[in-house]
Amino acid sequence: MTKIPLLDFSRLAPEERTRLKEAFDRVLASGRFILGEEVAAFERECADFLGVTHAIGVSSGTDALLLSLVALGVGPGDEVICPAYTFFATAGSIARTGAKPVFADSCPGCWNLSPREVVRKRTPRTRALIPVHLFGQPAAMSRLLGLSRESGMALIEDAAQAFGARSEGKAAGGRGTLGCFSFFPTKNLGALGDAGLVTTEDGALAEKVRALRVHGSRIKYRHEWVGGNFRIDALQAAFLRARLPGVEAALEARRGNAALYEEAFLASGAAALCPEPCRCCGEEAEVPLGPPPAPILLPRDVRGEHTWNQYVIRYPADRDGLRRFLAEEGVQTEVYYPLPLHRQPCFLDKEGEAEELPVAERLARESLALPIFPGLTPEEIRRVVDLTVRFASRPVSRM
Ligand SMILES: *Cc1c(COP(=O)(O)O)cnc(C)c1O
Repeated sequence: MTKIPLLDFSRLAPEERTRLKEAFDRVLASGRFILGEEVAAFERECADFLGVTHAIGVSSGTDALLLSLVALGVGPGDEVICPAYTFFATAGSIARTGAKPVFADSCPGCWNLSPREVVRKRTPRTRALIPVHLFGQPAAMSRLLGLSRESGMALIEDAAQAFGARSEGKAAGGRGTLGCFSFFPTKNLGALGDAGLVTTEDGALAEKVRALRVHGSRIKYRHEWVGGNFRIDALQAAFLRARLPGVEAALEARRGNAALYEEAFLASGAAALCPEPCRCCGEEAEVPLGPPPAPILLPRDVRGEHTWNQYVIRYPADRDGLRRFLAEEGVQTEVYYPLPLHRQPCFLDKEGEAEELPVAERLARESLALPIFPGLTPEEIRRVVDLTVRFASRPVSRM
């Protein structure tokens, strides 16, 4: 049985492989493995690519978020609004500063932080909000930036899954007070290990993030703040420089794969686009959720700006059964994310209670990520679609 993985580095193009080996040789020859010229060059190239003034390479996407919050002075007594339906690091970094993560529900149409929820959840203690460009689809930035200005809240973009995405002509991660990127190997731009980036237009914040990255010091052995070791390796910076020129082609391949999925799924008759409208920008009334229009529900590019870091379908009837079936057939899938953050044990209140956030809970129950990495072939995509449709069309009850 041929296996279809979620990611396969053995399919890297030969030219890219050669560039990575050259990068390794260059760093080895330089003898400089921490920060240095390689990191400075990577930061300049990233800043150019993203169209931002300051880009600071750091140890991971998680550390980018933590450093951004610390640089803003967020701490005990503060509240920070973030989505409940995201990777743990978004909220974990808030909690690590001593501030309180305030969980907001997602928009049913684009699955990103709902601006209405920001309005519902903001208080005089709200210091910042962290929208996430989930699965590579930009959040409703204009609306969220408007709210952040109106209420004097900082806006940190969690662009970990959206390197290279643009919204309204500007880079995702380049519009907020600070932007945070991850170069974890599965992301749009992947390192060969852990790495991350903080971006900002604010020179003072940039300088503070740079200092916090090396124990809060701008002058050696003089510490103005308590920072930590949040440095990016020179090797990872060099690998990322080798891959950066290929990132647009990789995003094009992801978009092509998403289009193939959509075409093949819709042609099967067993799938429909998710019917819920995006409610981020307009004043659409809440529509009660009707029965799904088809067994398989497909993700939508609601703003024409998706980068498809993940292709996440919904299968309300039996997501876990579908996942097991695909695994038996050699297709690797993943559930992002099975338990929304407001229900994580570490965030429950003393009574063990959590409020209801219906959209986040439904997405956590129904969603399944299918392989979409750039090296995937059209035949493999058709096989994933055929298997999924075959499972969804089986007459037996699987509930
Ligand atoms: C991957 C990811 C992170 C964390 O990035 P790491 O580099 O793995 O620390 C944060 N937020 C989101 C939404 C992510 O997907």
